[in-house]
Amino acid sequence: MAWQIGDVSITPVIELDLSVDASFILPDATPENLAPDFDWLQPHFVDENGRLKFRVQALLVESCGHKIIIDTCVGNDKQRTTPEFNQLNGPFLDDIAKSGFEREAVDIVVCTHLHYDHVGWNTMKVNGKWIPTFPNARYIIAQPEFAHLSNHKDESSVQTFGDSVAPIFAAGLVELVDCNYQITPELQLIPTPGHTPGHCSVAISSRGQKGMITGDVMHHPCQCRHPEWECNADTFPQQAEITRKEFLEQVGDRNTLVIGTHWSSPAPVYVTKHEMAWKVSFD
Ligand SMILES: [Zn+2]
Repeated sequence: MAWQIGDVSITPVIELDLSVDASFILPDATPENLAPDFDWLQPHFVDENGRLKFRVQALLVESCGHKIIIDTCVGNDKQRTTPEFNQLNGPFLDDIAKSGFEREAVDIVVCTHLHYDHVGWNTMKVNGKWIPTFPNARYIIAQPEFAHLSNHKDESSVQTFGDSVAPIFAAGLVELVDCNYQITPELQLIPTPGHTPGHCSVAISSRGQKGMITGDVMHHPCQCRHPEWECNADTFPQQAEITRKEFLEQVGDRNTLVIGTHWSSPAPVYVTKHEMAWKVSFD
């Protein structure tokens, strides 16, 4: 199933679908606080118990003859402290091949940022070593994001850098770019800092149609209604909140089709006015 924005096709490949408590990612998003918005959040984004649906997916994008993967999920065999993400053994490579994205055919990988749930399939384990999963690809990473992760020495950052970033860098496949980098004539990075310092979203523009891939500027559609709700993984929460509000103004009023990287959405959505803020609509 591919989504179409102008000439750009986008195929979501789901690695994980979870139902999580607020404490997993958005501490304010309790069932009680979500209840006033159940009418539009259910059934796609909140389950019958009021828990958040949280998706990990890669977006396979075809644009101007390129096969592009935007964010590479958690990956197999990665040792992670969060049990839901530890030592996965999923069929991701078969799934992307079924959509015409054999790993050798991918020529561009885009990392919106360098958290471990966005870079996992940058590499795969072969004979005990991490090697680039996409040997013929340029891996696009924003310079400030690369600098941020390489300077962080906490255990999780060191682990992620070591198994998912350093091997592609050593193989000469990383292209460090600025936060407005034009990927193809139809795709461009847009700086959306706060969740991480060099975080980027991806803007799509083709044949008069506009789209936006969020990355982690928002983790869940409930943040359209409550852009002040911070994610417990935001590096700079105040900056992240400012960026979310600006982002919603930019894409809102049915101006742009929005594809949420962690949103369990069956289709791209519009952001529309709701109460004093926003919600999402399918038409
Ligand atoms: Zn994420």
